Amino acid sequence: MTMVASRPAAVTVPSAASGPIAEAVASGELPGRVWIYSNYHCNLACSYCLTESSPRSERRQLTAEQMLAVAEQARSLGFTALGVTGGEPLLLPWLPETVLAMAHQLPVVLLTNGTLFAGDRIKRAAMLADPNIALQISLDSHLPDLNDMARGPDNFANVVSAVPRLVASGVRVRIATTTAGPLDSPLLDPLRDLVRSLGVCDEDHVIRPIVRRGRADERELGVLAAARDIPSELTIAADGAFWGSFGPTVRSGRLDTDLLLTRTILPLSVPANALLATMRGLPEGADASLGIR
Ligand code: SF4
Repeated sequence: MTMVASRPAAVTVPSAASGPIAEAVASGELPGRVWIYSNYHCNLACSYCLTESSPRSERRQLTAEQMLAVAEQARSLGFTALGVTGGEPLLLPWLPETVLAMAHQLPVVLLTNGTLFAGDRIKRAAMLADPNIALQISLDSHLPDLNDMARGPDNFANVVSAVPRLVASGVRVRIATTTAGPLDSPLLDPLRDLVRSLGVCDEDHVIRPIVRRGRADERELGVLAAARDIPSELTIAADGAFWGSFGPTVRSGRLDTDLLLTRTILPLSVPANALLATMRGLPEGADASLGIR
């Protein structure tokens, strides 16, 4: 079964932004994407979760107004893309409308565990069928038991049911596979075949390692990553702005602050300039042991 819905190309109007951030993004010195942690609670409790998310987690939630302000100011400053992650963002009832509004500013990738599209909920998700929006859904193995061991009961069944229905609704779906093994392992080939059969092309199948932070650190899973190993994408959470999307992780219930740039998230120029200054101030080969703040 192969179902790849045709979709129009992204339609973002080029920003007329100028200034140090726009120049740094244009030159490749600064990554163009800004990440936003919308919330930290989740209906799952995966074994390697960076944020120790679960239904009982502290929510650490941004408002829709804050997320829209980040999107608008990111575009004005010269950033080129947005990412929304959590926790499970789609637990927030207003999230789809907010992401749609953000996509009028810049292309958005929305990370979700893909378990909240059962029954009629798929109709609400269909509003995300926009050329500037991609949903990135997690799927770790072609073997249901192996996938569900890390991500929880019935996760495999929920995801392989939801993805073709989303694709048929015109939603662009990316699949993210998180693995403890080599990224190019032939053991992943059956999963690659499964992802294709769900209607997702190879370019939209991301395979990445477990990063040893959060719950993965507690369980000694995955790879150790210093700041220079983590893309320096500006990342905004309720508690502050961080170096990279692996910055605002949670360990033993406490927010990690080793990659904290500033507690100020808006105006966005404050954390954006803090990130640029930190990058330019680091000596070659510096890493998180320097205590980036
Ligand atoms: S890894 Fe994602 S889906 Fe799993 S508990 Fe964490 S936030 Fe939820």
